[in-house]
Amino acid sequence: MQKVVKFGGSSLADSKQFEKVKNIVTSDNTRNIVVVSALGKRNKDDYKITDLLYLTEAHLKYGVDAQSIFDIIKMRYNEVKNDLNLNLDLDKEFEIIESKFSKTIDKEMLVSRGEYLAAKLMACYLGYDFVDAAEVIHFDYNGKVNNEKTDAAIKEMIVKHPKVVVPGFYGVYPDGKIHLLSRGGSDVTGALLAKGVDATIYENWTDVSGFLVTDPRIVDNPKQIKEISYEELRELSYMGANVLHEDTIFPVQELDIPINIKNTNSPLDAGTIITSAPQDTKQIITGIAGKKDYESITIIKKAKTEKLKVMREVLEVMAKYGINVEHMPSSIDTFSLIIESKKIAKHLYEVLFELKSLEDVMDVIVENDIALVAVVGRNMATKPGMSAKLFSIFGDNHINIKVIAQASQELSIIVGVENKDFEKAIKAIYDGLVK
Ligand code: ASP
Repeated sequence: MQKVVKFGGSSLADSKQFEKVKNIVTSDNTRNIVVVSALGKRNKDDYKITDLLYLTEAHLKYGVDAQSIFDIIKMRYNEVKNDLNLNLDLDKEFEIIESKFSKTIDKEMLVSRGEYLAAKLMACYLGYDFVDAAEVIHFDYNGKVNNEKTDAAIKEMIVKHPKVVVPGFYGVYPDGKIHLLSRGGSDVTGALLAKGVDATIYENWTDVSGFLVTDPRIVDNPKQIKEISYEELRELSYMGANVLHEDTIFPVQELDIPINIKNTNSPLDAGTIITSAPQDTKQIITGIAGKKDYESITIIKKAKTEKLKVMREVLEVMAKYGINVEHMPSSIDTFSLIIESKKIAKHLYEVLFELKSLEDVMDVIVENDIALVAVVGRNMATKPGMSAKLFSIFGDNHINIKVIAQASQELSIIVGVENKDFEKAIKAIYDGLVK
């Protein structure tokens, strides 16, 4: 039995947070693989170390003095070290980093030092071994994780280092150069380690007691999600819920390893549990998320042409420009492409020109300022009348529906509304179906 425990930046913001982490880790002997982010904010006006490292690199690149920013970083790590009386030569580490300061410093290497140093501190404090992510997380040159190589390296690591701290967020290319995951990527490091050791559970420790049903900036005090399936979580995070890094699920899902979102500041709270088959069948709606700023491009085909042929031609244009089409609702002579505005902005006019030039297309109509709201719930599949209830909520609240999409698994219903109705729609769905 072994657990992978990942701590996010706010769980590592200062020595008090380090103490909480130690209590959590040592209270359960099976919490043997620890993954850490870089030090996070101590309060809402504070800075994340990762952001300061990006800033340091930008200063170096433009030849502006970077030392004063790097000194803040040094101070933050030194403070933890001194408060906890750790026997660790941080000065040597800082010297190595500073010796590389130049206009062309390797940005990924520099930014990765946030988690590297946090892991050094944590390993020393817990009395666990430190293993550099550069030794275990391997990427191919295309930036994708090399699963085979990573798995093998993790298996080897755990034999030699049964209690270990590994920095999150980075790994190496085949030539040994550091490569960063995207922001929030320590979640993925934890998932890869959990898969590599076939962990009993992957605990992801943060500063909230699990996920909320919807965005607390829109709905006051939303309920917490107790259980959620991997697929539901992917759907919600894809639709804009600020939860785990979206690549976290695949590695653990492969081996059916549960993820438990836990709160470092309130460790006894149950948190949210993510599994392949949640037990709760009562909660109909698991979560509500959404994003603003989509375009709807409606294609009206010529009367005598086959719709399928036009669809294929239109999608070829999209593929040519690498534009992802999210939904494609259709009627007999028309179909619409729902696309995130930012994904098409660069090529909008070229795309419209090409679409209008297609022989089988009669007209193209563009609408913007559309928001998509996703109502996600695995238990909706078994409940007839859910859509009716949902749509009557829109009607009662005078919200005009522009797009409707439901996939065959019935995991989610997606409704497109005008941007201006976005918050109103989420509130109304929450009040009507969750509260
Ligand atoms: N420190 C990195 C970030 O701020 C990675 C992480 O925390 O997962 O994005």
